[in-house]
Amino acid sequence: MSYAARVLKETIEKNPGQNHFHQALTEILPTLEPYLKEHPECEKDGLLERLVEPERQIIFRIPWVDDSGAVQVNRGYRVQYNSVFGPYKGGIRFHPSVNLDTIKFLGFEQTFKNSLTGLPMGGGKGGSDFDPKGKSDREVMAFCQSLVTELYRHIGADTDVPAGDIGVGAREIGFIYGQYKRITGVFDGTMTGKSPIYGGSLGRKEATGYGLVYFTEQILESLGATFKDKRVVISGAGNVAIYAAEKAIQLGAKVITMSDSNGYILDKAGINLDTVKLIKEQQRGRISEYVKHHSGVEYFDKGIVWQVPCDIALPCATQNELNGEDAKALIGNNCLVVAEGSNMSTTMDAVHLLQKSSTIYAPGKAANAGGVAVSGLEMAQNSSRLFWTAEEVDQKLRVIMKNIYTTVSTTAIKYAEKKDLVAGANIGGFARLCEAMLLQGVI
Ligand code: GLU
Repeated sequence: MSYAARVLKETIEKNPGQNHFHQALTEILPTLEPYLKEHPECEKDGLLERLVEPERQIIFRIPWVDDSGAVQVNRGYRVQYNSVFGPYKGGIRFHPSVNLDTIKFLGFEQTFKNSLTGLPMGGGKGGSDFDPKGKSDREVMAFCQSLVTELYRHIGADTDVPAGDIGVGAREIGFIYGQYKRITGVFDGTMTGKSPIYGGSLGRKEATGYGLVYFTEQILESLGATFKDKRVVISGAGNVAIYAAEKAIQLGAKVITMSDSNGYILDKAGINLDTVKLIKEQQRGRISEYVKHHSGVEYFDKGIVWQVPCDIALPCATQNELNGEDAKALIGNNCLVVAEGSNMSTTMDAVHLLQKSSTIYAPGKAANAGGVAVSGLEMAQNSSRLFWTAEEVDQKLRVIMKNIYTTVSTTAIKYAEKKDLVAGANIGGFARLCEAMLLQGVI
């Protein structure tokens, strides 16, 4: 049995029931084989065994009082995965589905993603099973304050810097940061995705979506194509989806779908983003309300956007939102590129189908790294007490996404085949981690 296969088997056995974590391991470890063969020092130094085991896993109680006066208790998590490159870095997710398994898979992926950015950030992830949907602002604030009353002792500008993820945006980050500052008495920029008025970076809100489109642009360029006049199908209607749509439209594409957990809209004339922003960012409403604003739009509360014929598919909702059947439909419709805005958007069978087809598949750890990359730029601005213009940040984001694409595509050619961006991203992230971990000794 190969080294990667042995560690995969042992890690799965050691972590029973953690299916998402198993999936992430199964998607990553076997692709590292060619690199591991070339670098026997990895096995000798127990590199994989150390990499799959988080440095620290924190689980805590979050009690808070709801608007009816009742006491509620949620569970909080912070998995500090790997600090070889810098402070643990990764978002916080609020969603009822969150458990240790979710946070471990996200933290593991984040470690590779952050390595790919080349910025000084380790990997981590956190979250809670709290559901912000339907909660009042006061309830969200009470919850966030309780969360950070425990979490504050584990985070800090030089130790662990959380950010947003699903269910955590500028409102939640503000409440978390405010309470963190109150408890510690320190204004040190811990937390990224802050509002620019008190230390956030311009361009952070847009970064994941814009970065996803910049990365996809590179793939299209390798095919001799551009976004111009392409039909783009997007899932989700959160931060990533909205700003991916915005950049794709700016580059001349037509975005025809967006969705939320209730259903999806199909606007063949091209989605009007001002309406989506009004519904989602201001009214915190459902995407179905879009049909009230525009004629000729269809709303479906069944089915999924991937069945809609398109040239480019950008999953931007959540994990495992694109399965084997969806992949078959996309391939059948001659979709050129599937690039992940959400983390691990695609099920394993769908990945295999896409890899075998002529559709190019870009995994999230490369394609959606723009968000955390601009978080890295926010950290740099905070520690130098400077602000960069939106143009400067966008310029740097473009360069970072281009560099990630270069790393991923050249690594794919060297160790697998040109089209295998999965191997390219996994080995690209792993090689840097390996080198740095070997230099730091057995820790
Ligand atoms: N949650 C985002 C991600 O999955 C951003 C993390 C961050 O900015 O720290 O990469």
